Amino acid sequence: MRALVFHGPGDVRLEDVPEPEPGPGDVLVQVEVALTDGTDAKAYRRGHPVLLGPPPSPFGHEFCGIDVATGRRVVAANSAPCGACPPCRRREETLCENLFPLLNGAYAELLLVPQRIARVNLLRVPHGLAPEVAALLESLACCLHGIERAAIEPGQTVAVVGVGPIGLMLCAAARDAGADVVAVGGRASRRELAQEFGATPGDGKGADVVLEAAGREEAWRTAVELVRPGGTVVLFGGLPRDAAPPVDAYRLHYEELTLRGAFHHAPRHVRAALAFLASGAAPWERLVTHRVGLGGVAALFDDPPDDLLKAAVVP
Ligand SMILES: [Zn+2]
Repeated sequence: MRALVFHGPGDVRLEDVPEPEPGPGDVLVQVEVALTDGTDAKAYRRGHPVLLGPPPSPFGHEFCGIDVATGRRVVAANSAPCGACPPCRRREETLCENLFPLLNGAYAELLLVPQRIARVNLLRVPHGLAPEVAALLESLACCLHGIERAAIEPGQTVAVVGVGPIGLMLCAAARDAGADVVAVGGRASRRELAQEFGATPGDGKGADVVLEAAGREEAWRTAVELVRPGGTVVLFGGLPRDAAPPVDAYRLHYEELTLRGAFHHAPRHVRAALAFLASGAAPWERLVTHRVGLGGVAALFDDPPDDLLKAAVVP
């Protein structure tokens, strides 16, 4: 079968590789569509030993496809918590101590969903839901976890810093939680799109809750500056491991700010994400702006078009 293989930073190759052979409980999926995301783009540029393992390695983790054994359309998250470790037993599954194996290899004709993920986080796609919308599952599940961490009260003002695909999904989810949502930053076309995801463009000053969704030190700083005294900042976008953004000790202490991290998703968020996608509550399809074949992925990461949100990769 044809698959995109990651050989090192900036080096992915379209190759003929042996078809994966499912073991007990594994599910073999014929990929209809995979989606690019920021994590893949980062992994392409810098490598990602945790996510991808030692090269050469399969690549891509957001997908929708057909379960070869049953003919059903399915979608899955890229991991599943073990359910048995102390964090899992506290229902803090994002902190699971045994999150491996991760799912990789969605940029291919066939994809093997490992047994644990197939058991916990593989779901049937409802009729009528377009495959490229269903494939937004994992990204949206992460966003719903971020919203849970934000503990939004209806009527609160929530500022979202960063209006990429994640920022737009956070806008829709915060709106759904009953917030007045302000989208901060981005060029004019993005601010316009943010309105379709339930947000009003603005500066976000004095927001009750600020969701950082840009993954840059500067955005972390902005988020802490914007929130009102007593407010909550959710730091959603990851920074490089050695990053040490300055902390405004005055604001933290005298203005009693709450800073919370948000990483990954739990099975409850994966299920809620699929229902949210199927509800049509937001124009999810507008997050998929480009369409390429397997051979077009590298060029997209090398030189992303200005208007790229996510690309559908059709093997
Ligand atoms: Zn666990």
